[in-house]
Amino acid sequence: MRKPVVVCLDLEGVLVPEIWINVAIQTGIEELKTTTREMPDYDKLMRQRLTILDRHALKIGDIQDVIAKMGPLEGAIDFVTWLRERWQLIILSDTFYQFAQPLMRQLGYPTLFCNQLEIGETGRIVNYHMRMANPKQHAVAAFKSLNFFTMAAGDSYNDTGMLDEADTGFFFCPPEHLPKEFPMFPVTQSYEDLEQRFLLAAG
Ligand SMILES: [Mg+2]
Repeated sequence: MRKPVVVCLDLEGVLVPEIWINVAIQTGIEELKTTTREMPDYDKLMRQRLTILDRHALKIGDIQDVIAKMGPLEGAIDFVTWLRERWQLIILSDTFYQFAQPLMRQLGYPTLFCNQLEIGETGRIVNYHMRMANPKQHAVAAFKSLNFFTMAAGDSYNDTGMLDEADTGFFFCPPEHLPKEFPMFPVTQSYEDLEQRFLLAAG
């Protein structure tokens, strides 16, 4: 008897567009375009983002306004449904619950493990709190310890620990430089492609 399957998916770049890139476009603040696809140090990246927001006096409400206008990537809703008909799906993201809420509603509220923002009385984003270091990798390790077969997909530096830990891990539409640095993870470029890979791996 095969183990039951848990699929762990990254959120931004896999099911929804990059939140910060959209914020950069909507606000015209070019330097907010940097993401985990380019900068491996998430703490440094988040400190930089909060400093930029402060400099432009942007509050949580301004960011949520931008996110509310975003939708999932084309085909993402059907892909999520397809996965949930077959296996258990957990979204592992380094984003924050305050950001993800409007997008998760559109995806039918799949389970999301992410982080929290600390919001001041005026709506200023005061700080951010990660639940732990390497949360994606730890989540996959925990599912394995519960005797699940784990499959994962992501597009960024912060997914490589999860992809490595999973029984099988795939890149999904990664930036060109990543598969060169991490050639051990097969690259998929569409939901159909990823579905076929998952079907084969799950057996
Ligand atoms: Mg991503």
